[in-house]
Amino acid sequence: MTHSDVIIAGGGPSGSLAAYELARQGISVTLFEKAIFPRYKVCGAGLTHKILKEIPFNIEAILETEIHTFTFSSGFKEVFTRYNADPLIYCTMREKLDAFLLAKAEEAGAKVFFGTRVTDFTQNKDGVEVNTANGLFRSRLLIGADGASATVARRADLRDNIMPGLAWEAEIQTDPLVVKAFSQTVFLDWGTFPGGYGWVFPKKEHFSIGVGGPAHLSRWMLPYYRQFLGYLEFHLFDRPDLQATGIQREEQRLKTLSLKAWPIPVRIKKSRFHDRRVLIAGDAGGLTDPLTGEGIYYAVRSGKLAAEACSCYLQAKQQSLQSYSDAVNDTLMNELSEANRIKYIFNTVPAKIHGFVRDSERGWRAFGKVLRGERWYGDVGKGLGTWRFLWNPLCTLARFVSWFKERSFQKHGFPG
Ligand SMILES: Cc1cc2nc3c(=O)[nH]c(=O)nc-3n(C[C@H](O)[C@H](O)[C@H](O)COP(=O)(O)OP(=O)(O)OC[C@H]3O[C@@H](n4cnc5c(N)ncnc54)[C@H](O)[C@@H]3O)c2cc1C
Repeated sequence: MTHSDVIIAGGGPSGSLAAYELARQGISVTLFEKAIFPRYKVCGAGLTHKILKEIPFNIEAILETEIHTFTFSSGFKEVFTRYNADPLIYCTMREKLDAFLLAKAEEAGAKVFFGTRVTDFTQNKDGVEVNTANGLFRSRLLIGADGASATVARRADLRDNIMPGLAWEAEIQTDPLVVKAFSQTVFLDWGTFPGGYGWVFPKKEHFSIGVGGPAHLSRWMLPYYRQFLGYLEFHLFDRPDLQATGIQREEQRLKTLSLKAWPIPVRIKKSRFHDRRVLIAGDAGGLTDPLTGEGIYYAVRSGKLAAEACSCYLQAKQQSLQSYSDAVNDTLMNELSEANRIKYIFNTVPAKIHGFVRDSERGWRAFGKVLRGERWYGDVGKGLGTWRFLWNPLCTLARFVSWFKERSFQKHGFPG
């Protein structure tokens, strides 16, 4: 039976970053990935600028587009566009990003087995025995970085306080002139679907277009997606300046290359992210932003924190992995819990927030700074200044309003 210090289940961003950081320190690490890379993964692959500060090597080679502009609509109306001199988001494709990150981990010394699913494990006082589709392996610690399927987290009973989210996304081809015209612009429709939104992320040669929100509203998600696509095709992409270039209507049609749904698990309360010799990171831990669905940043951050906790434990600087749960709760969960509260406020007064980002320089700047990692969700309440004492009661009130809005939408769907 092969032995290593740490086994990692899953080679997405959380697993790769954990493997990279461990291997760099000379710790023996084996990563099992059920797929064979490069593999398609349904994801917008929009990387907020703040993520570049967290990845300890340059990833420019795999970025396809750089986003400076956002176009917003609310219910496909009241459309406005805002520009930021510094880039806010970079778009790529997950097959490129994930293969690149995992190759970096391999270069650093991690052993990677593709096409190998982790199926189960048992913990004892000496270590962990990990069952895979290709046999039994032993390690001292195990990191579950196996995404929303979360085999490791489920077996370790670490899946409490998770609110299921869902997203539908398609890769869409259209006329190259349309793709080029929108190559620096992310389009968002918000305030239409309670607790969710629709997005267009421009890639080098196509668009990734999707909608997402709470899973209990899933019945209305595909109808929303179809409305969204219709709006894009017949309104947003049907600009007079594009018509003037001589594009034929037929070439401007949106051709769906793939359309898939995938869960987005959202941890809504501080919880345990370890059990004896097991840690969970990224989507397996439900570490996604409840407001935006962003998960790659949190996958990278939690992967790195998991590596740090494993390293301290293996060097006997810590007697348990409790420091990992504490670090995740004190950093990532603080931020994500605040994002959840802001989501309630947004759900309650979407039109006001739409107007605030449109009309106020301060509103747009704050939006950009959060994406760039120059401000945090935790700063939003502080921005109320002397009215800050109202923040907690406002969030509590908004939570109830938001709950009623979602329940009503679940029952009745879109008005009319
Ligand atoms: C439609 C959609 C759009 C999204 N858009 C964005 C976006 O634009 N920006 C953003 O930041 N986030 C986005 N997200 C969220 C983002 O995709 C996830 O948060 C992110 O992928 C989490 O990374 P991870 O490493 O934890 O898990 P994953 O990326 O899911 O990686 C898990 C890996 O583990 C492997 N695996 C699974 N089970 C096993 C097993 N038993 N054994 C071995 N290997 C296993 C899988 O093959 C996979 O490679 C989106 C999500 C969805 C559904």
